[in-house]
Amino acid sequence: MNRNFRSAAFKPVLAVVLTLILSVAAFGQRTALKPGWNLFSPAQDVELGRQVAQDAERQLPMLNQRRVDDYLDRLGKRLAGYAPGEKYPYQFKCVNDASINAFALPGGFLYIHRGLIEAADNEAELAGVIGHEIGHVALRHGTNQASKQQLYQAPLAIFGGIMGNDSMAGALAQIGAAFTVNSILLKYSRDDEREADLIGSQILYDAGYDPRSMATFFEKLETGNRGTDFFSSHPNPDNRIRGIQQEIARLGPLPARAAVDSRDFQNIRRLLQSLPPAPQGTAAQQSQPGASTVPAASRPEPPSSRLRSYDSGYVRLQHPDNWRVYGEERDFALAPDGGIVTVGNEGALAYGGMMAVYEPVTRRGAAVSLKDATDQLVARLQRSNPGMRLMRDRGQIRVGGQVALSMEFVNGSPSGGQETDWLVTLVRPEGLVYFIFVAPEEEYASYRNMFQRIVQSVRF
Ligand SMILES: [Zn+2]
Repeated sequence: MNRNFRSAAFKPVLAVVLTLILSVAAFGQRTALKPGWNLFSPAQDVELGRQVAQDAERQLPMLNQRRVDDYLDRLGKRLAGYAPGEKYPYQFKCVNDASINAFALPGGFLYIHRGLIEAADNEAELAGVIGHEIGHVALRHGTNQASKQQLYQAPLAIFGGIMGNDSMAGALAQIGAAFTVNSILLKYSRDDEREADLIGSQILYDAGYDPRSMATFFEKLETGNRGTDFFSSHPNPDNRIRGIQQEIARLGPLPARAAVDSRDFQNIRRLLQSLPPAPQGTAAQQSQPGASTVPAASRPEPPSSRLRSYDSGYVRLQHPDNWRVYGEERDFALAPDGGIVTVGNEGALAYGGMMAVYEPVTRRGAAVSLKDATDQLVARLQRSNPGMRLMRDRGQIRVGGQVALSMEFVNGSPSGGQETDWLVTLVRPEGLVYFIFVAPEEEYASYRNMFQRIVQSVRF
C-alpha cells in the first residue's frame, strides 16, 4: 500500500540490529567450549585423578619446596577460578625436571616442571601454560578420551563395570586400571590441544593478564628449539599459535594495564636457579634421543619362573606369579609391580604384556584378512606412538591352535630410552585379538622367553 512508509519504518530497526551484530562480532564472540561425551561423572574425574596422582608423585622426582608449591598453588587456583564449567579441587605442584613441560590429571591435579618456570620470562608466560592445562581439566579431555577408548574396545564390559558395581572404590579401581592400561593408545587429540589453548587464552584474559604472552611464549619455545618436550606431549600443528591469536582478537580490547609479571614469580624463579640443576627428562612424556634409561633401582624384579593360571573370561593363559593382572575379559594387561609407569596424563606399559581386541574397518559384509587387519592396527598404534618402527617381521606362529602373525617393533620407552614391542595378532569372531609384550631394549632378551611362554599358554 505505501512502500515508502514501510521502508522508512524499518530503517531504524535494521540499524539497531546491525549495530548489535557488529558489536557482538567485535567483542562477545569468544569460542564457547563444553566438555565432550563422558562415561565418568565429574566426581569420578576427581577420584580417578587423585588415584593416578598418588602413583605419579611416587614415581616422579617431586621438587618438594614449600615456597614454590605454595606459589604455584596460589597462581593456579586463581587462574582456575576463571575456568568454565564444573569447579574442581585443583592442586598445583612442581616436578624437579629440567624439561619444559606441564601436565594435568583429570579432576585438577596439575604438575609443572621446574624447567617450565625457569624458561618463562614472566608470570604471564607461565600462566599461559597453566591455563592450557586447566583447559584440559575443565573440558575433561582425559576421561573423554578414556570413555571413547572404552566404548571403542569393550562397550559392554565398561558399562557393566561402572553400572553393575555398588562399590565406588571397586568400580574405580577397575576403571582406573583400565584407564591406565588403555592409555597406551591414548593421546589428547589435536582438537583437545586446540581447545585447551583457547580456554587458556580466555583464562589469561579474564584473570587480567596480557593473553598475547601465551602465543609469544609458544613462539619462543618453538623457534628457540627448547620446546621439544612441551610440543611432543602437546602436538604442535602449525596453526596452533595462529589459533590463539585469532581467539585473542575475539576476546575484545586488551585491558589497559594487562599484567605481565609479578615480583613473586621473579623471586620463585631466582630461588629455583639457586638450587642444584634439575635432572633432565626423568618425567619426559616420550623418550628423547639420549634420555636416561631406567635406573637399576627402579626396575621391576625379574619375572618369576613359577607360573600362575589366569582366566580372563575370554582367554586363559599363564603368567609369572609375581605379575598382576589389570582389567579382564578382552582387555587386560599383565605386569610386574613398577611395570606400568605414569607419564604425563597417561599410564604406559614399560614391562609386561597386554591383550585387547581391535575391530578392523570392513566394507559391508566383507571379511578382512589377518594381514589387512594387522596393518590397520599397526597404523593405528603408530599414530599414537610416532616413534614406533617395525624392526623384525617374524612371520606366522601358532597361538591357541590358530595362525597368528608375529612382529617386533622398536619404540620410545615411557621410562626413557628405547623399548622392544612384540606384537602378536590373530583373527577371532570378535575382531583382531592382539597381544603386545614390552620391555626396554637392553632388557628385552631377559624377558623374551617369558613372553613366549605366556603366548604358548594361550587358550580361547
Ligand atoms: Zn595440552
